[in-house]
Amino acid sequence: MTNLSMFSLEGKTALVTGANTGLGQGICVAYAQAGANVIGVARRSCQETADKIAVFGGKFKEIIADLSDTSVIPHIVEEAEKAYGRVDILVNNAGIIKRCDAADVTEADWDAVININEKMVFFLCQTFAKKWLADNKGGKIINIASMLSYQGGIRVPAYTSSKSAILGLTRELANEWAAHNINVNAIAPGYMETNNTQNLRSDEHRSEEILSRIPAGRWGTPEDIAGAAIFLASDAASYVHGFTLAVDGGWLAR
Ligand code: NAD
Repeated sequence: MTNLSMFSLEGKTALVTGANTGLGQGICVAYAQAGANVIGVARRSCQETADKIAVFGGKFKEIIADLSDTSVIPHIVEEAEKAYGRVDILVNNAGIIKRCDAADVTEADWDAVININEKMVFFLCQTFAKKWLADNKGGKIINIASMLSYQGGIRVPAYTSSKSAILGLTRELANEWAAHNINVNAIAPGYMETNNTQNLRSDEHRSEEILSRIPAGRWGTPEDIAGAAIFLASDAASYVHGFTLAVDGGWLAR
């Protein structure tokens, strides 16, 4: 008989970036339900996330930090370890998107997207993996990719670059760290109902175009990625390395 406790996160500590809303909030709630101590990092208060977790008596601590600059990393690590000790699971979820014709993208907007969606992801991975390599107890990293890790998209050149980089980086880091029991994987969400897609959803034409192409016939929700996020963070995924799992209502199969 399969031992379902392999999916439990009981006794583990997970740090999730971008925890105040959207997919990050969904992942925090799911991890707390699976038994983890959850640390949510965000620019703004995570009170809503904390309230959702308090309903069932889960454990949650917020750390306020602006993830556009790597100089915040030592503060995040210190606060996280002060709260729950060793961090076992890192979810790089925080991300931004700036929609603009490629011909008009400014260097400032390019840097803003790349700094949060790509550079910060690498340096957070490096920070926690160094600790895990030193104590030899392994760890799990889940990066949040996108359909634009596979496709070109339109009017989002920096975002597509960053999310395509996440797919490659996830493979690269897995190659370096798999032998040390560090699992580096990613989730590529499809079109989900969050702030990230607010503009798309309020554009009647684009919204209809997208919806009609999703085999599942609906936009995804933060709850839809809970199962994949728990699986990749759990012992059940210990031999899964360098893979980007699409949770997309069938978008990529089309
Ligand atoms: P969202 O805009 O609701 O959430 C983005 C999160 O990132 C927020 O918690 C925000 O506070 C955080 N964040 C942004 N800039 C930050 C900064 N400088 N410092 C700290 N935190 C910062 O959107 P979402 O859809 O929940 O996005 C979560 C992740 O999922 C992103 O990486 C996004 O690219 C990715 N994604 C979303 C979709 C979708 O359809 N919604 C699809 C594919 C990928």
